[in-house]
Amino acid sequence: MVRKIIDLTMPLKTGSPVFPAYPIPIVHTWVNVKEHGFYANLLLLVEHTGTHVDSPAHFIADGKTIDELPLEKFICRGVVVDASMKGEKEEIKREDVENALKNLGVSVGPGWIVLFYTGYDELAGRPEWFNHPGLGEEASKYLVQLGVSAVGIDAPSIDQPPFPAHKTLLPNDIVVYENLTNLKMLLGVRGFKFIGLPLKIVKGSASPVRAIAIVEE
Ligand SMILES: [Zn+2]
Repeated sequence: MVRKIIDLTMPLKTGSPVFPAYPIPIVHTWVNVKEHGFYANLLLLVEHTGTHVDSPAHFIADGKTIDELPLEKFICRGVVVDASMKGEKEEIKREDVENALKNLGVSVGPGWIVLFYTGYDELAGRPEWFNHPGLGEEASKYLVQLGVSAVGIDAPSIDQPPFPAHKTLLPNDIVVYENLTNLKMLLGVRGFKFIGLPLKIVKGSASPVRAIAIVEE
C-alpha cells in the first residue's frame, strides 16, 4: 500500500490575499540570526487568513469558539464534489451533492468532510477570485441532515452573500474550511484521510490550519 500525503494548504506570507473585510497579512522579521543570534517572525493576521477553519462563533453569537470544538471535527474521512463546471457565483445545489456522492458510491455522515472543488484557488488575489460558486441553503441543509463533521472549499468563502451555508452549517457545529488548494488531486478518491488542525486560539472565531489529505492506494 502506497501512502501519499497531499498538501491542501495555501502559502502564508506578507500580502497573501484575504477577504476584502480584512487587513492584508504581514510576516515581519522580528529578529535575525546575523544581528540577534536567532531568527523569528512577527505575524499580523486575521484568523481567516489563507487556508483556515471557521468555528460556529464566526456567525453565531454564543456559538462554540475554535478552542471549544472536539478534535474529531478536524480529522475526517473525506470526499470531493466537483463544482468546477459551475458558473460565476452560481449556487451549488443539493442535487449536485447528491449526484456526486451517488456517482462516487459513498455515503457520508459523522466523521466525514465534504470538500468542494471549484478551481478558484488559482485565481487567488485577482478580482474574479470572489466570483466563485457558493454552497446554497438546500445543499447545506442536506449536509446537516447527513450529519457530516466538516465542509470545505478551495475558494475564499464557502458561499456568496447573504452566506446561506455559513448560517446553516455553523449553528449545527459543522466546521467550514476555506481557501483549500489541490482538491483536484483528490477527485474520485473515496474516503481519504483529511487532517486540518486549528491553533488553540482562546475564543477564536477561526484559525489558520495546515490541511493535508492522506491517500492510500
Ligand atoms: Zn473564514
